[in-house]
Amino acid sequence: MATSRLCENCSFGSKKDNCFNCGNPHWGRGKLAKVCSNCSFGSKKDKCLGCGNYHWDRGSLARLCDNCSFGSKGDNCVDCGKHVF
Ligand SMILES: [Zn+2]
Ligand SMILES: [Zn+2]
Ligand SMILES: [Zn+2]
Repeated sequence: MATSRLCENCSFGSKKDNCFNCGNPHWGRGKLAKVCSNCSFGSKKDKCLGCGNYHWDRGSLARLCDNCSFGSKGDNCVDCGKHVF
């Protein structure tokens, strides 16, 4: 399990303040978007969740709003939708 990162381009300006899932502002609440071990395997964790380019550990962590991370929804892989344990 890993948290997912967006590249500088995909987190530019107010984009980092928007929910990765629905695009609404998350207001700093909600949860960090999770990816399962399969979707973060090897070099996949080094790639931007939004566009697939390498993020080089810059940019910012992808975040979900209160609504999209409510209950068990926040525990699902944002890439494949599988439950992350
Ligand atoms: Zn959302
Ligand atoms: Zn990107
Ligand atoms: Zn996954």
